[in-house]
Amino acid sequence: MRSGAGSPAMGSATLYDAQVIGRRWLNARTFELRINRPAGFAFLPGQKIGFVYQDLVREYTLLGPVDSADLTFCVRHVPQGRVTPHLATAPPGTSIQVTEASGFFTFKPSPRPAVLVATGTGIAPYVAFVRSGLRGFDLLHGVRTVAELYYRSELAAAASRYIPCLTGGTLSGAPPHAFDGRVTAWLANGLANGVYDFYLCGRADMIRDAMRLIDERFTGSHVFTETFYDGAL
Ligand SMILES: Cc1cc2nc3c(=O)[nH]c(=O)nc-3n(C[C@H](O)[C@H](O)[C@H](O)COP(=O)(O)OP(=O)(O)OC[C@H]3O[C@@H](n4cnc5c(N)ncnc54)[C@H](O)[C@@H]3O)c2cc1C
Repeated sequence: MRSGAGSPAMGSATLYDAQVIGRRWLNARTFELRINRPAGFAFLPGQKIGFVYQDLVREYTLLGPVDSADLTFCVRHVPQGRVTPHLATAPPGTSIQVTEASGFFTFKPSPRPAVLVATGTGIAPYVAFVRSGLRGFDLLHGVRTVAELYYRSELAAAASRYIPCLTGGTLSGAPPHAFDGRVTAWLANGLANGVYDFYLCGRADMIRDAMRLIDERFTGSHVFTETFYDGAL
């Protein structure tokens, strides 16, 4: 397959050849991976692609902007994982196969206020939303420590309210409006009653708990979800 060209593979998905350009560590466990953009590759803010490694495919959300020269991703290194140790160490120039972009976790404009909720790297689609011009939303980012508040300046500048929710037991060094607790605790006590569009992305148990709360407290709201992982990392 010609480098950079799309060709049908993996059922109906198109595969592209790309190369690692480099990575920038955002903290000790998470890095931003940059690969070149194959010719003809297109995506919508909030979509993800599959990285093919050996017999495995893992999905990663594109950070955007949609017209960027390269493609970037915010990846949590899972040391015991199968694919992220490779992504964390592959040197520049390493060939990598990726699928075309897919997925429906895109922003749907509506008259209802938008509340974006993420845990960990689940912040990635919201970075893409912001880089496509989205402004004036509430954003909750659930992490353990301040060091995990990826892209916080960019996000805080775009949001009406940017609320880091820290579960590591300290707010030391946290930005203004940080909350000591889980995103669901903030939703339960900090968000006025009303009808919203909720976007939930990240860990499965956060999404499950938030949906239960939304059913009870914010009846009539719309909910869009993207589950990244099950574990408690
Ligand atoms: C639609 C979609 C989009 C995704 N986008 C991203 C993304 O933008 N960035 C990203 O880092 N991951 C993302 N993921 C998760 C990613 O696809 C992989 O599952 C993850 O990188 C682990 O791969 P692995 O082969 O190294 O680990 P595996 O061998 O699959 O081991 C998985 C273990 O790692 C845990 N885990 C998986 N992902 C994470 C994570 N992000 N943070 C903490 N723990 C995790 C799991 O709970 C499990 O314990 C996405 C998943 C989906 C379904």
